[in-house]
Amino acid sequence: MTAARKEDEVMELARRRGFIWAAFEIYGGASGFFDYGPLGAALKRKIENLWREFYTLGEGFYEIETTTIGIRDVFDASGHLACFMDKMVECKRCRSLFRADHVGGRCPDCGGELSEPQDFNLMFKTRIGAVTGAEGGERGRGEAYLRPETAQGMFVNFPRLLRFHRNKLPFGIIQIGRAYRNEISPRQGIIRLREFTLAEAEVFVLPHEKNKHPRFHEVEGVVMRLKPNYTDEEIEITVGEAVERKIIAHEYLGYHMARVQQFLEKIGIPVGRLRFRQHGRDEMAHYAEDCWDAEFLSERFGWVEIVGIADRGDYDLSAHSRKAKVDMSVPVAAEDAPEGAETKERVFPHVIEPSYGIDRIVYALLESSFHKEEVRGEVRRVLRFKRCVAPVEVAVLPLLNRKELVDKAREVFRLVRSHGIFAEYDASGSIGRRYRRQDEIGTPYCITIDYETLENDTVTIRDRDSMRQVRVRIAELPAKLKGDVESMFG
Ligand code: AMP
Repeated sequence: MTAARKEDEVMELARRRGFIWAAFEIYGGASGFFDYGPLGAALKRKIENLWREFYTLGEGFYEIETTTIGIRDVFDASGHLACFMDKMVECKRCRSLFRADHVGGRCPDCGGELSEPQDFNLMFKTRIGAVTGAEGGERGRGEAYLRPETAQGMFVNFPRLLRFHRNKLPFGIIQIGRAYRNEISPRQGIIRLREFTLAEAEVFVLPHEKNKHPRFHEVEGVVMRLKPNYTDEEIEITVGEAVERKIIAHEYLGYHMARVQQFLEKIGIPVGRLRFRQHGRDEMAHYAEDCWDAEFLSERFGWVEIVGIADRGDYDLSAHSRKAKVDMSVPVAAEDAPEGAETKERVFPHVIEPSYGIDRIVYALLESSFHKEEVRGEVRRVLRFKRCVAPVEVAVLPLLNRKELVDKAREVFRLVRSHGIFAEYDASGSIGRRYRRQDEIGTPYCITIDYETLENDTVTIRDRDSMRQVRVRIAELPAKLKGDVESMFG
């Protein structure tokens, strides 16, 4: 199967089965905008909920929710107004626009000559409140922007967040929500969107404590594939060794990179298709001191950034302090002071930020879960989702569409749902066709009600990956499904 064909097949399946649809499709769509259908929304929600748990339960971080529209001052201070730019070129013949770093010497559409690159700010601009024609032209009045990252909402609330945490550092805050970037010419499906979902954690830590993370020992043995910016080679190394050898600058960065890998692995992204690439000095975002991208090796697009892990230093807090004239520095208590430093010195906390692009993770999961095989002369397409992300966990199927089987199947369907397991009921078409449909949407288990069910109250559970079936008593079904159903299939 060629790479391009596979992507087409995955996206075709995603469209047909209700995962991802082009937005405004009946009006011809608009590039960079996609909607999630019923199964896509369920898949995405599950990823988001696992992510939320990973950081709240796992790290003890609190979640907040801030506005998606920001006033001008915020993005003036954050540097996004001046720096959040991509270089754009225009074809002099067909007038198509391209991101300069995505094209070579000539227009990829018509071969025409390209203009000199010029800066294009990626933020969507809007206005707050009613404006008259005269005010509309006036700079700054009601001027606002759709947020290009969720992070700023956490920075501008820092004084309140610090008080909430009883003035104690370090602490972490998370946020999941929409971000907006007016990408110049998005042509890569849900990889490059103009409206997308970010899941971001901002970890506030005193600068001299960045190299002593209290839980570093938990991750120091995690093996990662790194591509540091001083070499073209990739290295496989434990996080502990990478920090010790200063390939990764400090424990906080190393700790959070390892956690990123663990999260991606947990939801089913194969670690063999992940690497961490350090940004070159010239590539770093305007706010970053250091930055590593977790990249997924896509069969279709090559290496794609799915999570960015940045050390933002004190860039944001000091910038907002200056602009808002609110001092966001914190006193360094005597016992915490770096050696030789004055006591009562004030410093700005530094920020370590893992920033996950949820839509790209959805794509990576779809692509890496997709398998196609021949079974008894027929093509079987399967999404091998882990159960924790599968949109439908269990399908309940009467063997035949006969009243006595349908009634019993509906009863089992209700039973399963009443135990908190999301299930789908399907009675249409041959049983083989229904299994194939469930395979295609990644349902891990199918429960079939047949004539033996009516005799002895047992059903079969079919495992998606091995296609094996075992019989269980209906009375034991909920406990089996909630327990170690996997072990039943070896
Ligand atoms: P960044 O702040 O640029 O490092 O972006 C953080 C994460 O957001 C990246 O790792 C991507 O996964 C995701 N991302 C950035 N831009 C887009 C986009 N245009 N469409 C979809 N996801 C994006």
